[in-house]
Amino acid sequence: MDDPKRALRMVLEQEQRRGFQDSTVRGGLDVLLRGLYDDGTVKPGTPVHEALVESLAAPYKHLTAEMRERWVERTLVALQQPERRARAHTEPPLLPASVRLGVTEPLPRVRPLKKAAAKVPTSVTSAKGAPDAAKPGAKAKRTPSGSLTLDSPLADLPNAARWAARFATLGISTVRDLLWHLPHRYDDFSQVKKIRELRPGEEVTVIADVWACKEITFSHMRKATEAIVNDGSGALRVVWFNQPYLARQIHTGGRIVLSGKVGVFRGLIQMDAPEWELLEPGSDLTASVQAGRVAPVYPLTQGLPLRTVRRLVRVALDRCLEQIQETLPEALLAQRATMPGLREAIGQVHFPETLVQAAAARARLAYEELLTLQLAVLRRREARRAGAVAPELVLPEHVRTGFLAALPFALTGAQERVTADLLADLAQPLGMARLLQGDVGSGKTVVATAALLAAVVNGYQGSLMAPTEILAEQHFRTICRLLNGESLDGATALCNPPFLDRPVHVALLRGGLGAKAKARAQAAISTGAIDIAIGTHALLVDGLEIPRLALAVVDEQHRFGVMQRSALRGKGGAAHLLVMTATPIPRTLALTLYGDLDVSVIDELPPGRKPVKTVVIESGERNQAYTFVYEQIRQNRQAFIICPLVEESETLEVRAATVEFERLRGEVFPQLSLALLHGRMSARAKDAAMAAFRDRLTDILVSTAVVEVGIDIPNANIIMIEGAERFGLAQLHQFRGRVGRGDAQSYCLLLSDSASVEARERMQLMVDHSDGFKLAEEDLRLRGEGDVFGTRQSGLPALKVASLADLELLETARADAAAILATDPALTTSAYAALGEAVTRLVSGPGEVN
Ligand code: ADP
Ligand code: MG
Repeated sequence: MDDPKRALRMVLEQEQRRGFQDSTVRGGLDVLLRGLYDDGTVKPGTPVHEALVESLAAPYKHLTAEMRERWVERTLVALQQPERRARAHTEPPLLPASVRLGVTEPLPRVRPLKKAAAKVPTSVTSAKGAPDAAKPGAKAKRTPSGSLTLDSPLADLPNAARWAARFATLGISTVRDLLWHLPHRYDDFSQVKKIRELRPGEEVTVIADVWACKEITFSHMRKATEAIVNDGSGALRVVWFNQPYLARQIHTGGRIVLSGKVGVFRGLIQMDAPEWELLEPGSDLTASVQAGRVAPVYPLTQGLPLRTVRRLVRVALDRCLEQIQETLPEALLAQRATMPGLREAIGQVHFPETLVQAAAARARLAYEELLTLQLAVLRRREARRAGAVAPELVLPEHVRTGFLAALPFALTGAQERVTADLLADLAQPLGMARLLQGDVGSGKTVVATAALLAAVVNGYQGSLMAPTEILAEQHFRTICRLLNGESLDGATALCNPPFLDRPVHVALLRGGLGAKAKARAQAAISTGAIDIAIGTHALLVDGLEIPRLALAVVDEQHRFGVMQRSALRGKGGAAHLLVMTATPIPRTLALTLYGDLDVSVIDELPPGRKPVKTVVIESGERNQAYTFVYEQIRQNRQAFIICPLVEESETLEVRAATVEFERLRGEVFPQLSLALLHGRMSARAKDAAMAAFRDRLTDILVSTAVVEVGIDIPNANIIMIEGAERFGLAQLHQFRGRVGRGDAQSYCLLLSDSASVEARERMQLMVDHSDGFKLAEEDLRLRGEGDVFGTRQSGLPALKVASLADLELLETARADAAAILATDPALTTSAYAALGEAVTRLVSGPGEVN
């Protein structure tokens, strides 16, 4: 043990005498130092060992004479000291002295310590198992690539079988699914830096040799892997907490790419849990799947590591990318020079060279997705047109004018225009399929009534379906009023409009009816004795026939599933369809969601409506707001108070609303009468609460978001929305539409505790805009369609890549789709066959286009 050290001392003294010429040892002092280090006789952690480590990082032959002198002096001092541990603490034990001593001279690369690995005592893990095992590329090559296709099960990929169940929860079962499982973002690790240049806080990539790597245990039995890497410019400590097993995968002597954030520990730079990847000798970063490049980040599921997804995508690309056939016709691709081919796009969207390239690849895939969707929608529209026959419903002029004259108001210009659209459609034998969009309070009901009248005067039946009982009842009352009728039993009404020479029978079919009354109403509808049937989805019950149905009106469409829409139309065999919505649907979405419908818009409110004053209430001003509400109610007004949305849990939401209700009733407004409305109440209890409020029996309706749909209570002039930042703009606008229907000035008070910039921006949009369409577009832009519309329930196929907020791309896709269908309606010619297959896949997939 002492011999090598004595030998070293003699050599160093000789060097001193010779003026640090590095002439003492043949081949240079470094050879001796390396040998000493390699044979492991010098105890790690001692000053002498540190001197050896330092000489590996900063070889003697590359030092200036001055630096040699200092190093030799220090080392001689160390050699004279008795052998003891240099430091009491062991963390960070592995950092080479060169780093601690701040050696920053440019240094040549140190040869990896391959053979020494097992002997370095600090590196307890050794080269057990083939080093190649951790290299994805190596494995992939070993598996025969014979029969793997895009439609092969994912489990056929090398080492994929054990992950198959996890992938299945993401809806990925084939290689194709995997390749179309796109990253939702990227980590840009393409910035390769020298260790010497690293600064805390940077996101960087380092390529270095692994000097040591071992499992460590520290307080509370927590385990980690610790590595020391060196890229010739300096050394870096790397720690992966809770991943001690990495010590068996990262081998001393190997070359590694590390990507992550630079941190500091005890004044020295280090990386915590960076992405890592071993490099094959001589390989560069292009083969890397995560470190040292723009690395894909995928939507994951419990127990499925990002590394694994990256690896398998890489393998799938290597094996199957060539099999991907171009879907877009050549002519179209030629028109768009910047658009990559499909194969290129799939490759680049996963492993782009730059973020710009990734964006171009995405844009191509998004375009294709929208094009396919639009082809499906337009084909469906054509199919419907080809097959749709419905009775010709002409509304005689004298009936039209009589109806209008009997109204207590004149139609707005927009209402007139839309009524004309509808009546023109109805007079055609081609079944109407029209979407009527109109902001809350724009007066859609009266327009729908005119259309229903056209069915009635021609001897047919019409139906009107609303999403809630209270709305159905509201429609029933409104229509009775417009047609000069009265309900005797709450379920049927006889109307005698002055402009008609026959009576009109109207029925309200709803769940709350007694069994007898319901049976009577149903019977009257199915014998054809009822002219207009109004109801909730009770109208859809099996066995209820509406034998002479010629027009089905569906109100507040977004509340109904697509299936219900077609079921209602199916009732009458061939009927015209009018879909109404107060949810302003941005044009982009309308083109997709209702792409097979014609669209009419009422873009004007009845005159005399005072815009609702919208005010953002800071948290300190809540009491003033309550005082204001109280004053308004003393002037015989009514108010809504909306409780915050509790994401994911209706139970919690109801509980919170109940607590808030008790607080408001007991502490804030003890003199007033308050009622509570929430989603866990029975339909009957909800209706009772709404009806009491409508009939002015309560002053304040405290409610969860269920109050949203089109209830018309003109006397209510305040809506106070708690936790306003949690709602989407479109929804806030719906809430706001509950007020502002009477003559009094109305107010919308937005309470928000969130100081986030985004929340403030959204609140300000509410203050600045009263146009629902504008707000819906902003909402779509800010939150994306998934959040805004609850994609699945709206019947929209889940878009993987495209965003409906991208109006321009959608319009382009729609125009292209129309042009393609004009040349090849069936999509069967060779240029369009691939697209045709994609359309078929889409319409038969889980998110069916309707
Ligand atoms: P929505 O489009 O939200 O369903 P409604 O049909 O419920 O709106 O109408 C809202 C209110 O406006 C109703 O009280 C209705 O009587 C009234 N209204 C409708 N059209 C006009 C008009 N042209 N002028 C004045 N008031 C109107
Ligand atoms: Mg309405």
